[in-house]
Amino acid sequence: MNARHDEIARALLTVKTRINQALKISHRDPGEVTLIAVTKTYPVSDVEILRELGIHDFAENRDREGSEKSAEVPGTWHFQGQIQSNKISSIAKWAKVLHSLDEVRHLENFERVLPESSQMSVFIQVSLDPQPGRGGVRPEQIAPLAEMVMRASRLKLEGLMAVAPLGENPESAFSRLAQIHSDFRLQFPDSPFLSAGMSGDFEKAVIHGATHLRIGSSILGSRSHDR
Ligand SMILES: *Cc1c(COP(=O)(O)O)cnc(C)c1O
Repeated sequence: MNARHDEIARALLTVKTRINQALKISHRDPGEVTLIAVTKTYPVSDVEILRELGIHDFAENRDREGSEKSAEVPGTWHFQGQIQSNKISSIAKWAKVLHSLDEVRHLENFERVLPESSQMSVFIQVSLDPQPGRGGVRPEQIAPLAEMVMRASRLKLEGLMAVAPLGENPESAFSRLAQIHSDFRLQFPDSPFLSAGMSGDFEKAVIHGATHLRIGSSILGSRSHDR
């Protein structure tokens, strides 16, 4: 699959160039941003190619897929999908980073199933939707949940995560997020990270302070069976 290797290498280079450009215009350092390849729906052979190309961070939305691929390709695996209670003990086995915490009961369940010595990195997902429903807590619910993550011995609070709502200009959604994030950082200075930005909007996310970009289709091409 040499052709596939070259195709991914080219797309990855383009994405990195665009990220660096956005960092430059925001006077930010390239070291401030982590690129996470979202490999959901793509075959494990693509993940292997990404690994050869120097990518170490991979994200999945579903437990089954993440569990299978992470068993084949070493790296830091991230879970960013909607959390289902009955999948928590499995997710805890392969995911090192959780981007989608939005409920106290999930926090309690992760804390219960994680081995004593382990630490899972956690981003609290905040909803930028005026009418939440697609995951994430409302801004006023962030602090109480963050306090609980801080008290959990097996979880490490990294920061906030968000997805730009459908039907809203990501620019305005991310500028709202930047305000929420700056309030959050004052209260939780040891958890300064911001996971935001996907294929369609990552430059805008960088400009508004994103530190973790979750990018799939810009690197791997459009998904044949989109989920
Ligand atoms: C699918 C997904 C992404 C990546 O989306 P692309 O448009 O393929 O870059 C990022 N974050 C979340 C939460 C997703 O579900």
